[in-house]
Amino acid sequence: MSKLFQNYKRANLEFIKAEGNYLFDSQGRKYLDFSTGIGVTNLGFHPQVQAALQKQVEQIWHTPNLYQNSLQEEVAAKLMVDKDYLVFFCNSGAEANEAAIKIARKATGKQEIITFQNSFHGRTFGAMSATGQDKIKAGFGDAVPHFHYAVFNDLDSVKDLVTENTAAIMLELIQGESGVLPAKQDFVTALADYCQKNNLLLIIDEVQTGMGRTGKLYAFQHYGINPDIFTLAKGLANGIPVGAMLAKEKLGVAFGPGSHGSTFGGNKLAMAASSAVLDVMIEAGFLEKAWENAHYLQEQLTAALRDTDEVTQVRGLGYMIGIETTTDLDQLVAAARDRGLVVLTAGTNVIRLLPPLTLTKEEIDQGVAILADILAQ
Ligand SMILES: *Cc1c(COP(=O)(O)O)cnc(C)c1O
Repeated sequence: MSKLFQNYKRANLEFIKAEGNYLFDSQGRKYLDFSTGIGVTNLGFHPQVQAALQKQVEQIWHTPNLYQNSLQEEVAAKLMVDKDYLVFFCNSGAEANEAAIKIARKATGKQEIITFQNSFHGRTFGAMSATGQDKIKAGFGDAVPHFHYAVFNDLDSVKDLVTENTAAIMLELIQGESGVLPAKQDFVTALADYCQKNNLLLIIDEVQTGMGRTGKLYAFQHYGINPDIFTLAKGLANGIPVGAMLAKEKLGVAFGPGSHGSTFGGNKLAMAASSAVLDVMIEAGFLEKAWENAHYLQEQLTAALRDTDEVTQVRGLGYMIGIETTTDLDQLVAAARDRGLVVLTAGTNVIRLLPPLTLTKEEIDQGVAILADILAQ
């Protein structure tokens, strides 16, 4: 019997090897990966990341944040689309959001944060309290106070919750866990404008949407907004644990010496991987090609599933795609796996695809054929 907590519903197989965009299980079976962990190995098992990790392991893999860390500086510089941010490194998405919540409260001297119904921000107490889903919080007692939940894509519902004590509005631009639900452009533009006019901080949770997932480095670039704070994790080091909270320089005074920290945060190994990830992603043409191929994937999927009654919608942005279906999700995931394709689910009725940005057209065709086949049955 397993000696592990049964908090995960694990499939009965183990991946023990990977090559590019393919995974191999302990029986030697080969799978095309349309899941990248859960939106983590965004470049697949990329040789450049592997080489960077090997090189770093031979030098030094950890130093505490009591000393200079030029790799953190290097990654911070590469993360900037706008020089006006400072970076704090941690180890996960939840921790990045904790840092965002803490800096927002401290910088404003206010406590209330408005998030959205059906959002997902992580499992620690602060991030869980920010999350707008009762089932995530069930049984854990009192949540962290002063979070309020507006209706996604509804600015009036935000305005109704704003008080004198509101510090920030926090949102995912595409709600990932609850079903790949994109925010509307009009809503986001109006929300950003409203925040600016009313002196509210805008926090964007890019833990899942960031790092090229949607075809740009950050999803907020599609929406033409400039958040005060944003958070990263999943794809940031292509599978080595890491998180980051970026905030406008003017908020930096709230995070002075001793105010916040992390033992492992910005670990050398994570930073070496992250630096290699960013080198690949910011190389001219890489994200453009990924965007083009993701568009091709969405087109092929839409065409292949058009006449399938069990599919009600194909939606998403770049390589963050949801296939809404009336068919049992667990059955579909298992059927895809039997055919050599790994996919995810989201919410109650969505097959979620978070494929590597490095997919070739041949790999896309291969994945689409399997999905069309299993959904037609
Ligand atoms: C996955 C996720 C998180 C939590 O990240 P962890 O690394 O599991 O703590 C937070 N926000 C969003 C949007 C996510 O998708």
